[in-house]
Amino acid sequence: MTALGDSIHKSLTELEVKLEANRCLYCYDAPCMNACPTHIDVASFISKIAQGNIKGSARDILSANPMGASCARVCPTDELCEGACVYRKDDSPIRIGDLQRFAVDWAMRSGDRLFEPGAPTGKHVAVVGGGPAGLSTARDLRLKGHAVTIFDAHDELGGLNTYGIVPFRLSTEVALWEAQQVVELGAEVRAGVRVGEDVPFESLLDGFDAVVIACGMGSVPRLGIDGEDLDGVWDALDFIERVKTGTFAGELGDRVAVIGAGNTAIDALTCAKRLGAERVTAYYRRGESQMSAYGFEYEFAKQENIEFRFFCMPLRILARDGRAGAIEFARTELRQGALRRVEGREFVEPVTAVIRAIGQSRLEATLNAFGVETESGVVRVDDDLATTRRGVFAAGDCIYAKGTREAMVVEAAEQGKLAARSVDAYVNAERRNDG
Ligand SMILES: Cc1cc2nc3c(=O)[nH]c(=O)nc-3n(C[C@H](O)[C@H](O)[C@H](O)COP(=O)(O)OP(=O)(O)OC[C@H]3O[C@@H](n4cnc5c(N)ncnc54)[C@H](O)[C@@H]3O)c2cc1C
Ligand code: SF4
Repeated sequence: MTALGDSIHKSLTELEVKLEANRCLYCYDAPCMNACPTHIDVASFISKIAQGNIKGSARDILSANPMGASCARVCPTDELCEGACVYRKDDSPIRIGDLQRFAVDWAMRSGDRLFEPGAPTGKHVAVVGGGPAGLSTARDLRLKGHAVTIFDAHDELGGLNTYGIVPFRLSTEVALWEAQQVVELGAEVRAGVRVGEDVPFESLLDGFDAVVIACGMGSVPRLGIDGEDLDGVWDALDFIERVKTGTFAGELGDRVAVIGAGNTAIDALTCAKRLGAERVTAYYRRGESQMSAYGFEYEFAKQENIEFRFFCMPLRILARDGRAGAIEFARTELRQGALRRVEGREFVEPVTAVIRAIGQSRLEATLNAFGVETESGVVRVDDDLATTRRGVFAAGDCIYAKGTREAMVVEAAEQGKLAARSVDAYVNAERRNDG
């Protein structure tokens, strides 16, 4: 059995680093750079590695992407930079993610300071949420010299990097190192403070020159079926958080059912497997080709001996000895694109635990209480990430909407940079008006 903490990333050897870095063509108008939401200058950072200037390489990476350490581990590189590499046609793209990890790991080990805060501007910005979007915003605001206070409901910074992405994909150590870089630039942190409950949102508007909302999304939606409140039924995010923080004290048993087939489901499935559950099965009401998980994630789950059952919809969770003991499913089918239940094809699967993993809900009530306009639970923003409230901006998963943005660390990082630029322009304009 693979241990929970065994990283899925295998570091390149020094020889592999050299070969890979020298194989790069340092393309003009490099497609890999355009495919990265943060537009890291891939050719430049790889050529610095080839020249032995690893510090310069790490600086290139982290100046374009404050989340460069986590992205080197969690980015779907196949879909982004490596998918666009000119060597893709030969099926041998440069291992950009591995090279990025090599350079940033060097920076982590060296402890060298790569950035300095800008000269103080006298402006103070509140950032609500210290996940990838909030950290990226705070980092760039500090580089511009604005004072920043990050409010986060959790005890530690990092958001889903720290609490939601499984440890074998992204360790807590890396997530916290990344957050620490922002703290060392002088960002103030108010951890364990939930804005809207512990601190009124309106007080931020009174006490700060601008506010950035970067509070992400919420918990996994409920399935809306009987038996969901039984012991042994978990929200995937709560489950992963407890596993990652070492506070999971529940019993999974040997037959774990995960409802859903997206990337969160894959994380829950592989986590349950690595915790020792013998049979771990994903149940999904649509077919293989409709799964929202990335192809490489699906392949990874299959390699970890996860089973996938398609076209089954949970009807109710049945109790055994006072906890989840079985699930009754209905068969489904797709007819002309519409999902339908097939009557008379119900079946019961024995289980020892159930994990709901059907995406994330929206923090609509919180956002409405912040007084910003939302649409289907997503904060409405303009191209500069300004919300409908003056001086209030938003970035990251709280503005994620299908078809327009992706819920990814690298997207959150880029939006954080853009939010910082927009806030900078806003407070500078205010200063001119005041003058
Ligand atoms: C299980 C899982 C696996 C994932 N795997 C990947 C992956 O492999 N690759 C990838 O690129 N992306 C992955 N993602 C997506 C990625 O984690 C998110 O897109 C990213 O974390 C979004 O960053 P964010 O800062 O917007 O939100 P979050 O990371 O959610 O951070 C939001 C922060 O706001 C805080 N907060 C919320 N409300 C308040 C409040 N009222 N007051 C104060 N603080 C508040 C929270 O405590 C949290 O720290 C995954 C997501 C999940 C759920
Ligand atoms: S496209 Fe490939 S070969 Fe060209 S610069 Fe990018 S990584 Fe190097």
